Amino acid sequence: MKAKNIGEFRHYEFCRFCGLKTTPVLDLGYMPLAGGFLKTPKLIDKEKFYPLMLTFCKNCFLLQTSDVIDKDILFQNYFYKTSAIQTLVQHFEKIGDELVKSFNGTRKIKVLEIGCNDGSFLKYLLKVGFDAYGVDPATNIVSSLTPKLPIHNDYFGLKTAQKIKRDKGTYDIICSFNTLAHIEDMHEIFKSIKLLLKSNGILVFENQYLGTLIKSNLYDTIYHEHQYYYSALTIRNFIKQFDMEIFDIVFSNIHGGSIRFYIQNKNTGIHKIQKRIKNIFANELKNKFDQIYTYRLLAKRIKRQRKQLISIVKKLIKDGKTIAGYGASGRGTIIMNYCGFDSNTLDYVIDDAPAKIHSYTPGNHLPIVPSSILMTDKKTDYIILFAWTFRDEIEEKCRLYKQNGGKFILPLPKVTIV
Ligand SMILES: [Zn+2]
Repeated sequence: MKAKNIGEFRHYEFCRFCGLKTTPVLDLGYMPLAGGFLKTPKLIDKEKFYPLMLTFCKNCFLLQTSDVIDKDILFQNYFYKTSAIQTLVQHFEKIGDELVKSFNGTRKIKVLEIGCNDGSFLKYLLKVGFDAYGVDPATNIVSSLTPKLPIHNDYFGLKTAQKIKRDKGTYDIICSFNTLAHIEDMHEIFKSIKLLLKSNGILVFENQYLGTLIKSNLYDTIYHEHQYYYSALTIRNFIKQFDMEIFDIVFSNIHGGSIRFYIQNKNTGIHKIQKRIKNIFANELKNKFDQIYTYRLLAKRIKRQRKQLISIVKKLIKDGKTIAGYGASGRGTIIMNYCGFDSNTLDYVIDDAPAKIHSYTPGNHLPIVPSSILMTDKKTDYIILFAWTFRDEIEEKCRLYKQNGGKFILPLPKVTIV
């Protein structure tokens, strides 16, 4: 086998939140970038791999990746588009409606979205009457949207925050979805947020929840972009140093299980601290999110999960069955590479995102094809649903495939054939 081409990365022995030494808990080995889809087979030789390891901080309970890749490699050419996923668009509309309800004054409310991606949420905010502005570094996504949509194409950080403050002033709401776990220097991010947030303003941000990773062994959410895995305890510890406090927490099913924090400046008393968050902290302590052995056990369960999926797939292949994948997503990249699935295992991976069709999956180089292939290809017996968190949407799309006897393999949270 050809040796893997190892890319450049920064290795951390210490916690990026509190600076103390961390302990490794799970090593997934060298992995390609989850979103490193290859446009042509020629690019295979140039493909790079990076270590993917999680470490735990016994001091502030942060679970982080030990190795960080430069942000220009990760984000300037981003592969993920919100609007491609209907479930996400609806999720944002619901959050937008909630914000409208809690800010129903006569004054125009100013909202800044960090990591606005293709503007799905921004458009909704504008539609409901907010004065909304977005920031996103992915030039490939943002360039066609501006100037129609008010988006600043850059990384969010102190320099950007200073510019926005000069041009636009401060904000009532700063929000961010699936972004604030993707940034190496969270100290700078919070300093920038403080600069732009009105003293009575709120910060709303949502990320995948550490509790779901632990409960459902979601190793497919572990990738280089996801540098942090947040619990309520970790965020409470971290934001103290910025004189901020959590006043509410909402859980949602999006991305297989997410946590949404509502944060305000400390001692402003503007928003009452919701009683339920006390229970959330207590529950995390009860489930030992502050203990290293919780993460050692998680690593064991993840390894077992991988073994199960590999053995089912091996058996099907031995029985002469044909298998494909569904969802050329970061999750798919991780599952396939961690389980060692290649062209001897899967024929292709289905995805309808125009930017991905006719590209190749990272690491194992399978062709990506549109779902219409299921109309003509009658020989695929099983499809591994890498995009299992959007199962309902996909099953509806593939009704005919199922009616014709096709089966899905769910890789997570439990390896199941449906
Ligand atoms: Zn720490």
